Amino acid sequence: MPKYVYRFDEGRKDQRDLLGGKGANLAEMTRIGLPVPPGFTISSEACRAYMRDGHLPPGLRVEVTTALRQVEDALGRRLGAPRDPLLVSVRSGAKVSMPGMMDTVLNVGLTDASVQGLADMSGDERFAWDSYRRLVQMFGATVLGIDPRPFGEALDARKAAVGAVSDVDLTADDLRGLVDEYLQIVRTTCGREFPQDPREQLDLAIDAVFGSWDTERARLYRRRERIPDRLGTAVNVMAMVFGNLGADSGTGVAFTRDPSSGHAGAYGDYLPNAQGEDVVAGIRNTLTLDDLHARDPASYDELLAAMRRLETHYRDLCDIEFTIERGRLWLLQTRVGKRTAGAAFRVAVQLVDEHLITLDEALARVTGEQLGRLLFPQFDRTAGAPLLTRGLGASPGAAVGEIVLDNAQAIERTQAGAQAILVRRETNADDLVGMISAAGILTARGGKTSHAAVVARGMGRCAVVGAEALDVDEVRVDDAVLRPGDVIALDGTTGEVFRGEVPVVDSPVLRYVAEGLDAGLRSAADDGVRELVHAVHRLLTHADSVRRLRVRANADTADDARRARARGAEGIGLCRTEHQFLGERRRHVEQVVLAGGEDERQAALAALLPLQRADFTDLLEAMDGLPTTIRLLDPPLHEFLPNLTELSVRVALAEQRGQVDEHDVRLLAAVRRTHEQNPMLGLRGVRLGLTVPGLFAVQVRAIAEATVELRRAGRDPRPEIMVPLVGSAREMQLVRVETERVLAEVAAGSGERLRMPIGCMIELPRAALTAQRIATQADFFSFGTNDLTQTTWGFSRDDVEGSFFPAYLDNGVLTVSPFETLDADGVGALVRAGVESGRSARPDLHCGVCGEHGGDPESIHFFHQVGLDDVSCSPFRIPVARLEAGRAAVTVGDDATV
Ligand code: PEP
Ligand code: MG
Repeated sequence: MPKYVYRFDEGRKDQRDLLGGKGANLAEMTRIGLPVPPGFTISSEACRAYMRDGHLPPGLRVEVTTALRQVEDALGRRLGAPRDPLLVSVRSGAKVSMPGMMDTVLNVGLTDASVQGLADMSGDERFAWDSYRRLVQMFGATVLGIDPRPFGEALDARKAAVGAVSDVDLTADDLRGLVDEYLQIVRTTCGREFPQDPREQLDLAIDAVFGSWDTERARLYRRRERIPDRLGTAVNVMAMVFGNLGADSGTGVAFTRDPSSGHAGAYGDYLPNAQGEDVVAGIRNTLTLDDLHARDPASYDELLAAMRRLETHYRDLCDIEFTIERGRLWLLQTRVGKRTAGAAFRVAVQLVDEHLITLDEALARVTGEQLGRLLFPQFDRTAGAPLLTRGLGASPGAAVGEIVLDNAQAIERTQAGAQAILVRRETNADDLVGMISAAGILTARGGKTSHAAVVARGMGRCAVVGAEALDVDEVRVDDAVLRPGDVIALDGTTGEVFRGEVPVVDSPVLRYVAEGLDAGLRSAADDGVRELVHAVHRLLTHADSVRRLRVRANADTADDARRARARGAEGIGLCRTEHQFLGERRRHVEQVVLAGGEDERQAALAALLPLQRADFTDLLEAMDGLPTTIRLLDPPLHEFLPNLTELSVRVALAEQRGQVDEHDVRLLAAVRRTHEQNPMLGLRGVRLGLTVPGLFAVQVRAIAEATVELRRAGRDPRPEIMVPLVGSAREMQLVRVETERVLAEVAAGSGERLRMPIGCMIELPRAALTAQRIATQADFFSFGTNDLTQTTWGFSRDDVEGSFFPAYLDNGVLTVSPFETLDADGVGALVRAGVESGRSARPDLHCGVCGEHGGDPESIHFFHQVGLDDVSCSPFRIPVARLEAGRAAVTVGDDATV
């Protein structure tokens, strides 16, 4: 019989697949002797069985009984017994943390009978009835599916009736009366009694937690975070300990280092006399760990010792949920903590310096996505923007936008093209849709570990929380009244909130990657930022030293090329020459196409030559000494010709007026002749080169002449010629013959030896499938994964992302756009086949990629694995690609690659 239930002392931290992250870490803490209340984990296997069969496996009940009895025996208490009852919490815990997305039920085991036992045990009648009240409410809402509002209304009515200002003013008798009302709410809404059998409560709670894996909000979160739906969650059942037993009790969240800035040193939030979720809910503002030290030095010392122990054990920043019950510390959860991008880099390098991890490990722990975030602009400190108020900088970034007060507004304004700042008292799991839409989040309540802070950090959204001066009911900060639609600016690093627009400037990390270490350090505002710049430098330098993939840039102009080179590009992987024919220059191609006879065409081509030569001279000069792949003209012809409808109208009107323009008439005939229903699959790329005589030849001549000119000036130009949209070896052969002829002519005329690689793009399935033959004609391959994705899926790359992709992402056909992250199973299989079969003909065949995927972290790992030699991406993505290529080299085989 399969085993589904594991006691905490049976598991280990590397069993996250089975026990979920929370369960595996509880087991690990138990194993190393930290104070964890006893309990057990029901594995995510059980959840998968639940999803598959629609019910939990039959043997599970029995296993739960055994594990529960062992907990009971360890503590000498029985679940929900009338005397000295054991109560348990039932919490979800998937392999990947999904904060606040799934259900939790506390105080399971409390009944009409056991509530008095709890009162006796705690010596606190009020506490017992308050716990019971919380259970009925939480269980009612999450397990029995009751609308939570009547509970809130009953609570408010009771407070009003007895003149209580807050919940804590209610007496034991008040709460007892309230429990009666709550039980009545359950009776009338569910048509059944609140379960008075403790075991039934437990079973129903377990069922509900498994069920919460599949709620709308959980699915939405997973789609965003790319967590597969099939993983399922584990469920953790743990003996309750209480942080709300008076002033010597409390509950908190702590980090071994600051997850926001990366500052070394313990950091946390503490709420005295509070239970479990109060801290995360951000309902009351919290105290610091220093405050805890002042109130309870012994527990503080014990907490810090446990944190140090955990950090040593996990060799990483850990976060912890803890409870102090009457002066006794309990650890309820730990995990390798989520952190901001800046903290990730700083902490990784701190740990290297403390000799806890190696540089390779440090590199594996930061991501290109995080580096990308550090390159975002920041507010200009010198602009003197009016400060409105200040909260806690919970998730870094600079966000400017209109105030919106709810999710619907956030979505509406964002869809209308505006930037929205979601302003709330606090957020909860239902706000996820609004938080995704908003550019930034501002809350009045809560600490750095509140829901808003944790979720915003997780998705890299700028957030300021706990801005106490903010009154959300009328959106007022002190005397300043704000309205929805007013513009505010949030600095998620400092916690500042400004009124109106604030200009932004380059971040120090961007200055570093663009201008070098000194420039980055000079622009850093303080030691923390300097540490960050140093950390990025160290890890990027290390990535460069270990990566096998070379990184090139997609750049069409000398300016782009210089920018790319400054960021570490080791060449150009794609220069799209068609971009050199935009605007005014378009008519040159038009003339080539319209040419009446050979002389006319030669004249039009001759006019092109000096323009192209100048383009290539500039580009090759900027990339002096580095390989520069220049692609011959690719796009459909119609892009160079006027629009058919407009031109038809112009000619028709002119005819009506009797003023026929001969040029327009010829042009119209050409446009009609070349008109295509589906130009992306029509006369473009190599097909154009083979049908418009002399077009490719003039480009090749320009490249050759630019090379000669630069060599004579003592430079070292390294052009490579690339042919687009090749589908057959014969196409490639024809272009190659012509290219070599032109190169030979220029060589003969100049006395220079002109040998340069002539290769092709592999961007059609047929090219990938016949790569072995094409490779006999090509010196290198560059995978054009944009077109390869388009042609493999049969998706029109210009249309589908705006049409049915949202539906496809929604229904799970796609988890991410295949134009953004390579579809490894489909398009990737063609890339792999293309590399293998190309190299079977030519073992030294150089293979690269120049589609958009060349700058995408996950895709870069794939390209590393299939043995490409380089990736090419936009100049701005170069540092990200360098880092990810390094990570790919040190994390092969890890599942934590991205
Ligand atoms: C490609 O298809 O991947 C490519 C790089 O070419 P383009 O995007 O210019 O079609
Ligand atoms: Mg292409």
